Formats: sequence, structure tokens, C-alpha cells
Amino acid sequence: MTDKNVAKNFDVVIVGGGVVGAAIALELSRYNIKTALLEKDSDVGQQTSSRNSGVSHSGFNYSPGSLRARLSVRGNEMLFRMTKNLGVEFDNIGKLTVARTDEDVKTLERLLDQGKQNGVPDLQIVDAYTIEKIQPGAKGIGALYSPSSSIVNPYQLTINMAETALANGVDIYLNTTITGIDHLHDGFSVKAIGQSFTSKVLINCAGLFADQICKMLGIDDYCVYPCKGEYWILDRAKSGGLHTLVYPTPRADEPGLGIHLTPTTRGNIMIGPSAEYTSFDDGYSCTADVLGALSTVGHNMMPGLTTSDFIRHFSGLRPKLTPPEIGGNADFVIEDRDDIAGFINTVGIESPGLTAAPAIAEMILPMVKNHLKLTKKTDWAYLPKAAAKYRNMSDDERIEAVASDPNYGDIVCRCEQVTRAELITAYNNPLGATSLRSMKMRTGAMMGRCQSGFCLPKITSVLEQEFGISAQDITASGKNTQMFTKLRGK
Ligand SMILES: Cc1cc2nc3c(=O)[nH]c(=O)nc-3n(C[C@H](O)[C@H](O)[C@H](O)COP(=O)(O)OP(=O)(O)OC[C@H]3O[C@@H](n4cnc5c(N)ncnc54)[C@H](O)[C@@H]3O)c2cc1C
Repeated sequence: MTDKNVAKNFDVVIVGGGVVGAAIALELSRYNIKTALLEKDSDVGQQTSSRNSGVSHSGFNYSPGSLRARLSVRGNEMLFRMTKNLGVEFDNIGKLTVARTDEDVKTLERLLDQGKQNGVPDLQIVDAYTIEKIQPGAKGIGALYSPSSSIVNPYQLTINMAETALANGVDIYLNTTITGIDHLHDGFSVKAIGQSFTSKVLINCAGLFADQICKMLGIDDYCVYPCKGEYWILDRAKSGGLHTLVYPTPRADEPGLGIHLTPTTRGNIMIGPSAEYTSFDDGYSCTADVLGALSTVGHNMMPGLTTSDFIRHFSGLRPKLTPPEIGGNADFVIEDRDDIAGFINTVGIESPGLTAAPAIAEMILPMVKNHLKLTKKTDWAYLPKAAAKYRNMSDDERIEAVASDPNYGDIVCRCEQVTRAELITAYNNPLGATSLRSMKMRTGAMMGRCQSGFCLPKITSVLEQEFGISAQDITASGKNTQMFTKLRGK
């Protein structure tokens, strides 16, 4: 037997390195147990966790008593402090849910009451005059104002939680697709392509494929239906006036919260998301019809936009437990299964799963304690504060940075002001994630107006010069996504 064929033994195996798996890994890294996080992609947070609105929801949208309500309120509260400790961009910008009809006003009154029952702080209904004062240009006959709603950088959150967990002893296996699970008398044997793992506790955080992981254990209770949300991203030059989240009044039969304008922590505005049930075969492709409709909404909400202000589109898939013929939303499933001792299951973690992730981890901890004795580490620590981003530095700080490392003087992405020094740090990330998407999520390079048109050749040559990588080995997002199939003249 080669080393590769010898099972690696852990107390806990987490399947899935999205924001939920990363939050659980972070929580468990505080204890004296052996934990592994297994992720099929070449980096953490490549699926739903990086394909969303990036809103930390205050929790008034969800039915009292539901997990979505409780974990959204708690998660939003936790993110305020946690993001500071983790060095994750988070802005407490507040949210207006705007009414345009009398019917909408009734809905807002119901949401106010619901929010109060859920324990959302400082909610209030405001009039048209106050709407305009909070967000100039926003129009409505009234609005529900939620000052604790915020925005968060979703990929930074997932990455920084995973990297902090890794630094505190969690083993993270990327490019590791789980293909089969055996339930043993004292735990689990987890099979991935070319390797295997054993664990006493198995935690399913596989997002869109959580039902497939259940099926591997003979659990047929769940079916995940992908429901696509498409977005436009606007050029940062158009970010000027919007400094509050502005949502329409939601409709009960809609599978999402309605199309809205969302400022991102990086300073762009996103328009979306749509909500259309789809099939997994369609992947993340966007559709002309939906993008056209979103662009019309954008033009109506922000008069003066021109076609060239729309710099990119993307989509995410909600892992819904309600089939298309029913629509709406089901509650999260988070369970410590009685029938399979040690199997902890998360299924249907759609919105507000990004917000709720730290609270889900907090909820799962006692479930793990049902199966393992946990003692706290005494040497657990957050990572040292990361260096400031060049684009956020003052002129004096830039001069100092270039003096201490000349690579700060070489700007590789001119739209987002990302330097060679930052690219090198990102490439050397402790998870060993090296695709262009991994660089993009860590530095912001390629996210600007040119969408990599100008910076890709420069980034390619930096990777060649600094790390000796052949251009043909550079991938967009891991295996089978090579950027260049042939080198010129070869
Ligand atoms: C359009 C849209 C907008 C949203 N907006 C918001 C918002 O503003 N605020 C908010 O709070 N929430 C929002 N959400 C919801 C939020 O994004 C999700 O709830 C959250 O990201 C779910 O995280 P996760 O870790 O459960 O799933 P994922 O991010 O999908 O992670 C699951 C991971 O498991 C891995 N995996 C799957 N199968 C296997 C396998 N067999 N082996 C190994 N690994 C596997 C996947 O590769 C993936 O990385 C939105 C979602 C969408 C789609």
C-alpha cells in the first residue's frame, strides 16, 4: 500500500469548504481534536459562498421561530466583531426596504412586527422624507429601515476563516471530491478520488450537493433544487451616491428578496439577483433575457447609466429545498442525525446562509460535543493583521511600502491598483490555492473595469518570473480550466 492509499484519521471531517464549512472549521480549530476540511474545488469558497449579494442580513425577513430567523440575527451580530478580528471587509450601511403601494406598507408593518419578534435591533418604519434623507434619490411612500443590516466581503470571509482554521491546526484538503461514505460501527470511512479518510464525526456542508452526500449514507430525505440568481456589476466610477442597501418590498411567493441595488465592500454596485429555477446542467451561465431585464431595472433606478457602466455579469445558485411548483423558501435543515450516530447535516442553506454561517458553527458545536470530548486549546490565535492594500494606502504609506519592498512600486492591475507585492503574497497563500480566481478573490486584481483585459498578460508574466510557472499551467479556477492552450511560436 502506498502512503496515498493509507486512510488519514481524524476526529471530525467536514465536507465542503464554503462559508459554512469554513466557519465550522474555524470554531472546531479552538479545540484539541483532529479536524479535516475536504473541498472538491481548487480553493475554498468557489461556489455559492462567492456568488451572492454579500449582505449581512439583520433577520426581519424570516418567520419567527425558524432557524433562518434565529441564525441570521445571531450571525449578523457575530459578524460585527468577528470580521474585525479576521481582517474581513464589513460595512454597517443599513437597509431600506421600500414600499411603493399601500399593500407594500401592510407587508412592511408585518415585517416590522416579525423583526421585533426575532430580536432585530432598532427597526423602524420611516416616511418618504426620511427615506430621501437616509439615501438621497431613493423613492417610496414609506420604508422599513434596518440600521443593523450590513455588507461583507463574502470571499474574504470564507478564505480568512479557512486560513485561520488552518493556522490553528485544521487540515484542509483542496481538490478532494468525496465520492463515497461508509458508516462504520465507530465512525465513518470517507472516500475521495485517490485517497481516503476516517472520522468519528462527519459534518455535511456540501451546499448544492448536500443531498448527494446524504444519499451516500442512504438518507433520501432531501432534494436540492438549484435556483439561479443573476447579477450585473457596475463600474466603480458609478458607485458615488449609494451608501445604503435599497430593497423592494418582498413578495411571499418569490424565491428571493427581489431585485435590488447592492453596494459591495469594494465600492461597486451590483444589480440583481433574479430568481429562476434551473438545472445543474446550465451551471452558472447567464441568460440574455434576464440580464436585459436587470439592466432595465438598473436604468430605472439609476438614471444616467450607460451601457459601458455594466462591466460584468455573474450568477449564483440557491440550494433550495422547495421545488419549482411550490416556490418560496424552506427553513435550513441543521441536524445531529439520530439514525446515523455522528452524522451532522446541513442542507438547504440558502440565504441568509452567508450571514448565518458563524451562528451555524456555534449551533453545531454542542452537536459535536454529543460525540466527542472537547477541551479548549490554550494557544489558539487569530492570524497577524495582513498588510494594508495598496489601493487603500495614503500617499505617505505608499512611499513607505515601496521603500520597504520595491514590488509595491509595480502595479499589475491598474483598475484596482493591485501591486506585484500583493500578487506574490496572494500566490503564497497557506492553502496553496494558485488559480487566477484565487488571486482575484485575495487581491481584487482583474475585478475592475478592464476585467483582466489589460492586467492578465502582466499577471501571467509575474507568475512566470516569480514562481517559474509556465503560462500553459495557469488556470482560471483549477483543473481543466487552462487559460492558454498553446504558447506563441511553439
Ligand atoms: C444569488 C444569491 C444571493 C445570496 N445573497 C445572500 C446574501 O446577501 N446574504 C446571505 O446571508 N446569504 C446570501 N446567499 C446565500 C449564501 O450565499 C449561502 O447560504 C451560503 O453561501 C451557503 O454556503 P455553504 O457553505 O453552505 O455552501 P457552498 O458555498 O456551496 O459550499 C459548499 C462547498 O461544498 C463543496 N462540495 C460539494 N460537494 C462536494 C463533494 N462531493 N466533495 C467535496 N466538496 C464538495 C463545494 O465545492 C462547495 O465549495 C445568497 C445566495 C445566492 C445564490
